[in-house]
Amino acid sequence: MASADQTLSPLYATYARADLRFERGEGVWLETQDGRRFLDFGGGVAVNSLGHAHPHLVEALKSQAEKLWHVSNLYEIPGQARLAQRLVEASFADRAFFTNSGAEALECAIKTARRWHYVNGRPERFTILTFEGAFHGRTLATIAAGGQKKYLEGFGPKVEGFEQLPFGDIEAVKAAIGPQTAAILIEPIQGEGGIRVVPAEFLRALRALCDEHGLLLVFDEVQTGVGRTGRFYAYENSGVEPDILASAKGIGGGFPLGVCLATEDAARGMTGGTHGSTYGGNPLAMAVGNAVLDVVLEEGFLTHVRDMALLFRQSLEGLKDRYPDVIEEIRGEGLLLGIKARVPNADLLMSMRDKGLLGVPAGDNVVRLLPPLIVSAQEVREGMARLESALAALSVSGAAIARDDAA
Ligand SMILES: *Cc1c(COP(=O)(O)O)cnc(C)c1O
Repeated sequence: MASADQTLSPLYATYARADLRFERGEGVWLETQDGRRFLDFGGGVAVNSLGHAHPHLVEALKSQAEKLWHVSNLYEIPGQARLAQRLVEASFADRAFFTNSGAEALECAIKTARRWHYVNGRPERFTILTFEGAFHGRTLATIAAGGQKKYLEGFGPKVEGFEQLPFGDIEAVKAAIGPQTAAILIEPIQGEGGIRVVPAEFLRALRALCDEHGLLLVFDEVQTGVGRTGRFYAYENSGVEPDILASAKGIGGGFPLGVCLATEDAARGMTGGTHGSTYGGNPLAMAVGNAVLDVVLEEGFLTHVRDMALLFRQSLEGLKDRYPDVIEEIRGEGLLLGIKARVPNADLLMSMRDKGLLGVPAGDNVVRLLPPLIVSAQEVREGMARLESALAALSVSGAAIARDDAA
């Protein structure tokens, strides 16, 4: 029987859902069944890169839906070749494998790295070094890669071949490299971990260590990719190129789509029959992925992202100065922003929601702002005004100001 009560719901109780039911969206706005409007600065957790119901994406999906949905990878899929070609031209990569999610893109990245050593005659090299605070997905291998206890507990033996090191500790990396080491896997900016930006010099040092020891450098850009940080991929901010990269979230704009990118050399072990996916790269996903790139790769689009990022940054730093008892720090790059809170992040999110503004929680007591990349200057200002009222409601000094105003 239908019921809103979680204990009677037929769904797994794995999610703590907010009591909101959205019916439609347009651009950065979401509307509930009962007609309340919210400014969506959560962006479906960095997925709705072009906002809701973007006309170009709607058109691409509709027209593909009328032609062909799925044929399987037993046949040529022209949209795959086209999207792969465009990704290769826009990045370090030479090869692409399409998936349906971020975790699957990571699985492909992990298999690609291990297989490279295997075909190079070093099958004993299968261990991948990762970092504390990382998030790489929820499959058995990716929870092992992420290394977080809360995600591993109760799921049997941790998948072998992952070693977790302290964040930003290059000496620990040097000490950990041994005869079993295959690769280093890192998010250029930790998303779920709390918008922790990895310094460019650390990424450069990892690149040098990989080159020195014959290891592969793997970037998890599932959250940071496809324009989110103001570059097509975030690694461009540091100038450090990986050998393998996992991308998802924003690349599908809301349609389930991921991709593993690799250099020709790194992909050399992934020969006929070594990997596959039933749905990966199906015509619907390819139509949407290509439509996302039509917009993101358009001249001036990433400049717009960087301009909006600057506006956000200035406003957020101002709010931090005015509400130092609520905001400890502003973090991030581009439109991947984090507010490290001095109150519980859940309280800040609740207060924001009361003012019709949506964000996303992250580790380290951070509230993430991941607005659609198409956000306008006016919408940024509207969002910052709503954020200010949310902060004032939580701030001791702000609350006092509000009371004075009312008096
Ligand atoms: C979201 C995310 C993943 C997992 O993606 P799914 O599509 O949920 O499988 C992996 N890595 C990072 C950095 C992410 O943000």
